[in-house]
Amino acid sequence: MSFLMSVLKQYDLVTEKLKLDDGIRERLRYPKRSLIVSIPIRMDTGKMKVFMGYRVQHDVTLGPSKGGIRYHPNVNLEEVSALAMLMSWKCALMELPYGGAKGGVCCNPREMSEKEIECLTRRFTTEIIWAIGPQQDIPAPDMNTNMQTMAWMMDTYSMQKGNTVLGVVTGKPLVLGGSLGREEGTGRGVYYMVEESVQVIGKELKGLKVAIQGFGNVASTAARLLFEKGCKVVAVSNSKGGIYNQNGINVKNLLHYAKENKTISGFPDVDTITNEDLLTVDCDVLIPAAIEGQITKFNAADIKAKIIVEGANGPTTPEADAILTSRDVFLVPDILANSGGVVISYFEWVQDLQFYFWTENEVLNRLKNIMTNVFNRVLLLSQERKVDMRTTAWMLGINRVSEAQKARGLFP
Ligand code: GLU
Repeated sequence: MSFLMSVLKQYDLVTEKLKLDDGIRERLRYPKRSLIVSIPIRMDTGKMKVFMGYRVQHDVTLGPSKGGIRYHPNVNLEEVSALAMLMSWKCALMELPYGGAKGGVCCNPREMSEKEIECLTRRFTTEIIWAIGPQQDIPAPDMNTNMQTMAWMMDTYSMQKGNTVLGVVTGKPLVLGGSLGREEGTGRGVYYMVEESVQVIGKELKGLKVAIQGFGNVASTAARLLFEKGCKVVAVSNSKGGIYNQNGINVKNLLHYAKENKTISGFPDVDTITNEDLLTVDCDVLIPAAIEGQITKFNAADIKAKIIVEGANGPTTPEADAILTSRDVFLVPDILANSGGVVISYFEWVQDLQFYFWTENEVLNRLKNIMTNVFNRVLLLSQERKVDMRTTAWMLGINRVSEAQKARGLFP
């Protein structure tokens, strides 16, 4: 089943439970707007190459649409559409005044020079320029894009408008109106969600065994914060495979090693494992923080963790969800667990619109407040209604969008 199919399956399951109005149910099943662009750029060899880019705005009922831009060889319209829908429920669940969007370019940034990536970013921005803007649609980093990518997007947009527009993208460098705390926001949010989950099952962070799939921005930040609190991070990985030590990996040393060597492979005193094996190692908490579709009906029954906190978007298929629920695994769903990024993006946008910037403490305290409040709201409702955390989170998100649609009415 494709990623989009599993997101739609989840949507059908939840909207059935919600008894959503048929018209609204159909409306929200499809994106409001999907843009496909071709992006010709001059490669370093002197040859021209054309890449395909996408921006899908799933819904804009609550406000401008919001969501990241990813650069990856697997990017296509279906994937971006699925991720855009997830952003709608994520923003609504977190009560941000945003709809959901996502974008991406099908490319392999590992095989491209910095110059080529800059050209790609600037031309992509130009191709979608009429669809984005601080009141329209606000991109941000996602897989393989970062502060530098956002700086180029912001510059390209601003040059064409003729004035500097800070609020057109978030996740920018500080000097260009970025927010303190944004770069580590998603990983920190994941950490807060582990902190909360552990209390639910009556354990404590110290000595807790954690396996993390990934070691990118989200995974490495979560790993560091958990390590600092005395957790045993037993495994992490990159796209090629993972490293494992049942007594815990020294994350501080690993971060240093990864920075020096641009990879985690070759790190001493660990066993190498596959990404598949990583999911089923002996641990208390599993954090899938790489890509979608990792926890499936084929491995869900073998997962040892009692808590799963989804750092990635869509790492668990609906079939796997059913297995995990029947096994009483406590799962914090992606739209809640990884919302720290978009919540701080919202703070960044607010600061940009006001030209007034907050201290790091203000940012982090507000993030923690919002995330723990929503976590507890989802938890309480899920216990009251005896439905799993994901279904509950989706219900809250979809319900908010649907209420807003009802209040606005149908145009014309
Ligand atoms: N790409 C991140 C996500 O999936 C952040 C989006 C944003 O900050 O707009 O939530």
